[in-house]
Amino acid sequence: MLADRTRLIAASGTAKARAAAKAAGICGQATIDLTAGEIWSDLSPTIREGALDAVRSGLNRYSDTIGSLDLRLELARKVSHDTGQTYGCDEIAVTTGAKQALFNAAMVLLNPGDEVIIPAPYWSTFPAQALLAGARPVHVDTKPTGFVARAREIEAAVTDTTRAIVVNTPNNPTGTVYDTATLSAIADLALRRDLWIIFDECYATFVHNGLTHHSIVALVPEMRSRTVIVNGFSKSLALTGWRIGYLAAPKAVVAAVAALQSHTTSNPNVIAQQAVLHHLIHDDGSFETQLQERLKATREIGLEELARLTRIAPPRADGGFYFYLDLAPLLGTTNGTISSQMARATVDGLLARAGVAAVTGHAFGDPTGLRLSYGVDAHLVKEGCARLVTQIERFEEILISEAINS
Ligand code: PLP
Repeated sequence: MLADRTRLIAASGTAKARAAAKAAGICGQATIDLTAGEIWSDLSPTIREGALDAVRSGLNRYSDTIGSLDLRLELARKVSHDTGQTYGCDEIAVTTGAKQALFNAAMVLLNPGDEVIIPAPYWSTFPAQALLAGARPVHVDTKPTGFVARAREIEAAVTDTTRAIVVNTPNNPTGTVYDTATLSAIADLALRRDLWIIFDECYATFVHNGLTHHSIVALVPEMRSRTVIVNGFSKSLALTGWRIGYLAAPKAVVAAVAALQSHTTSNPNVIAQQAVLHHLIHDDGSFETQLQERLKATREIGLEELARLTRIAPPRADGGFYFYLDLAPLLGTTNGTISSQMARATVDGLLARAGVAAVTGHAFGDPTGLRLSYGVDAHLVKEGCARLVTQIERFEEILISEAINS
């Protein structure tokens, strides 16, 4: 009854985890939900003012399909600053969240049958959108290389039909921040093999451990003609519900995106556009800095608890606002199917026994992984991490006592 393409996609794993956490809450269990891909925060005052002004002035009607000219000019200024390259307003498209920017990129760059290299673990929307475009996601396992996709391993996966590589730094879910050498080597590969880079830097403002986020275009300016930069305000301003993202790309790509978007959503919500424009013009950086400082402090609190882990390695958490753990050493089996099932049972058990909701690595193409978000209140992160450590350190003991009681 439904179109074949509906078989290509399932609801995202993070959405399922959130729903499970909510269901546990409804059943009366006091749940600590660490599944969120967003930061709990008040609204930035500049966003609030911009939106209220827009409403008061009666702003309505369609804007340009890919965003108002004023906003595209401001974003072009921002991208020019971020990359050290001069971008014009015809190289920017404003979208309904970064997710739509990525969808647009997939639809205008990928032909049916093309291959797209997506390093794993990955944010599950990347392969889902590639499939919707008729392309084939090809995953490069980054676990053996410390969750960094090295050019050598990527090149080994390149074929005559490879069209693009997805680079997501800082990475969701692993928190990896790509260094300059790795990015330059990936750029070199893309130039040699004539590939597009879809460069998702949505978490660029959250980088820890003294590291720095680097734009691939800033490092290798020739990449500008083959890179689609994707960013947005969901993460940097904790503005998930307002749905403003953007892409920066060569003019021909932006023109194709404009045509596509004119038949899908048309322009992003004009009040949200105006609010972001107001923010970009009037912001003094203090809101973003406060958000970053709060996350840094929460990260420290979570890491302090997770440092008590002895059975698995504590996370590096270099970027974003996630702790990513590999449960494999805990599971004591080299059988992939069994460890995958045991890892899922561990995450389910964490919710059922300890009331802590996390996202299983199944959602990220890494069945023994586990992601915790620390975008929520610090006391919840502390308590959630403490409970997780107890569950993991007493893994066998808990399993045996459950077996006896069942
Ligand atoms: N890119 C990455 C890596 C993400 O994790 C997310 C959201 O979780 C997005 C893009 C999409 O963000 P939004 O559509 O809310 O701007």
